[in-house]
Amino acid sequence: MSTRRAESKRKPRIRKYKAPEVMEILAPVHGPADWEPRYSAAEELVYTILSQHTSDLNSERAYQTLMDTFGSLRAVADASPEAIEEAIRRGGLAKQKSVRIKSILNQVYEEVGSFDLSFLAEMPLDEAKAWLKKFDGIGPKTAAIILCFALGMPAMPVDTHIYRVSQRLRLIGPKVNADKAHDLLEPMVPPEDVFAFHVYLIRHGREVCKAQRPKCVECVLAERCPSQGKFDKPKRKTSTKKSRSRASTS
Ligand code: SF4
Repeated sequence: MSTRRAESKRKPRIRKYKAPEVMEILAPVHGPADWEPRYSAAEELVYTILSQHTSDLNSERAYQTLMDTFGSLRAVADASPEAIEEAIRRGGLAKQKSVRIKSILNQVYEEVGSFDLSFLAEMPLDEAKAWLKKFDGIGPKTAAIILCFALGMPAMPVDTHIYRVSQRLRLIGPKVNADKAHDLLEPMVPPEDVFAFHVYLIRHGREVCKAQRPKCVECVLAERCPSQGKFDKPKRKTSTKKSRSRASTS
């Protein structure tokens, strides 16, 4: 009897969202998401290396300066690491990135005989990923960005926003690392929806489900989000004490 009472007092379990439900709810808020290639696959590769650990603005500037300076990927591959470093300085970590860009471009050229990577689009997705990831400096995220953004393949790049939102919604478990998240999130929606899923989650993470203060009160997913309200911390009591002591010393 007592067990039954305890059970009746328990909070009803929230039915977590499935990925297609998340998409359906976010589409009117963060859509549309129209795919359009911005760079060729090899250019996207260079851009993605430049974008590591810096803002979109800085990587965009670094990429433009690099291409303005050398004019072609072939010329970048032939340039000295110091000259590349000088051109991409705005993007941060220029020393490491210059060496990486030169090395990968030369390895790609040696293997393919050009910088045309469009053959990857003809491969099964897993094979295309494996082909890219064999190069030092290309991990699951970079591979997915190249395949998804440049070639329109159904690869799911998982950035910090997508990783955070997916964990808060419990689409993925709390112990899943970012690399593994790629493999888990990608098959949650049909291949034709992967790009939109990526875009909606990023936009939601940037605009609503922010890292420090998610706006749960205005979130369209709040009703069944297991993390809803968990970030409403009470104000620290110490502030009154501090302000009083400051006032008394002034
Ligand atoms: S309810 Fe809050 S934690 Fe959940 S997805 Fe929305 S903003 Fe993020």
